Amino acid sequence: MKEIPVGILGATGMVGQHFIRFLEGHPWFKLAWLGASDRSAGKKLKDATAWRLDGEMPDSAAELFVFESKPDRAPRLVFSAMDASVATEIERDFARAGHIVVSNSRNHRMEPDVPLLVPEINPSHLSLIHHQQKHCGWKGMIVTNPNCSTVVLTMALAPLSRFGIEKVIATTLQAVSGAGYPGVASMDVLANVIPFIPGEEEKMERETQKILGSMSQGRVVALNATVSAHCNRVAVADGHMVAASVGFSSKPRIEDMQRAFDEFRGIPQERNLPSAPARPIVYMPQQDRPQPRRDASRENGMTVFVGRVRECPVLDAKFVACGHNTIRGAAGAAVLNAELMVSEGFLD
Ligand code: NAP
Repeated sequence: MKEIPVGILGATGMVGQHFIRFLEGHPWFKLAWLGASDRSAGKKLKDATAWRLDGEMPDSAAELFVFESKPDRAPRLVFSAMDASVATEIERDFARAGHIVVSNSRNHRMEPDVPLLVPEINPSHLSLIHHQQKHCGWKGMIVTNPNCSTVVLTMALAPLSRFGIEKVIATTLQAVSGAGYPGVASMDVLANVIPFIPGEEEKMERETQKILGSMSQGRVVALNATVSAHCNRVAVADGHMVAASVGFSSKPRIEDMQRAFDEFRGIPQERNLPSAPARPIVYMPQQDRPQPRRDASRENGMTVFVGRVRECPVLDAKFVACGHNTIRGAAGAAVLNAELMVSEGFLD
């Protein structure tokens, strides 16, 4: 396949850096353009920002110049990791100018004609693009990925859809890397738990219903299930945990749930997309797993690990799920979305 040039909006930020690292050596995508605010524009990336991830800033990105976030010279495919205060308008400007914006920001996720995409779960939601382009008169498009804790929950719920999900109560233990840099003050979070993450519970509840919803007559009909989220920030570096209880219309046996997790596959696995994990969900039988430090980064950070599946005396069944919040929950999710779009011919 011919290499596809890609850009990153918000390239100097925390998620932007995750994009840079995740795209290094990608077999289809070549990083060709970086965008950020006018504070960074005109500088080489290495002079515009300090590298916050493990290891060194990749040489290939360090020497690239950062541009203002204007469509003119950007490649057709751009990933977006911009500050939410500016993403709404800038992403629209790019889509209007014909760019394919694969966004990690929350701004457009809940718009009715914007796909909130998890390729293993709802690839059919990509058909919203045709309505988006018609409705907005754009040549380009905006596609989004979910919030970092929502993706862990929805990946774990998707194989259980066949049992008729009616109620979900989900409690998160979210890593500090999800708050960006510098994020939560160390004095607040060390040896502590903070039981509030602004806007997070509402996002988890609404995004889950949209992602697990079905397409009907050109729109997404949200999953008719009540979802209640409790979100907590904990002193973990990477990896969000979600402890969930679920009520079903047809209560499954515990072994049927375990089999559903193990057998779950999607289009990314069928098509062998470059960032697709061989198994999107790994069920762990050990009584004390999954754990963020031991499991979140395995399988390139793209697998969600599920364990402790058992009866729930209040709803029907409960389990824990764990996934990498800045990879499966951010940069890796968006890159997999773009790979699905390439395989569907959106870049032809
Ligand atoms: P961040 O570190 O603060 O980075 C923000 C980026 O936006 C920087 O590149 C910044 O460029 C750019 N920016 C700021 N003002 C701008 C402007 N006026 N025009 C153009 N670019 C501008 O934030 P982050 O933690 O990476 O988060 C980025 C986005 O991803 C947010 O929408 C966030 O909600 C979402 N998100 C974050 C995480 C996470 O784990 N952190 C997870 C999921 C989603 P300068 O350096 O030039 O200021």
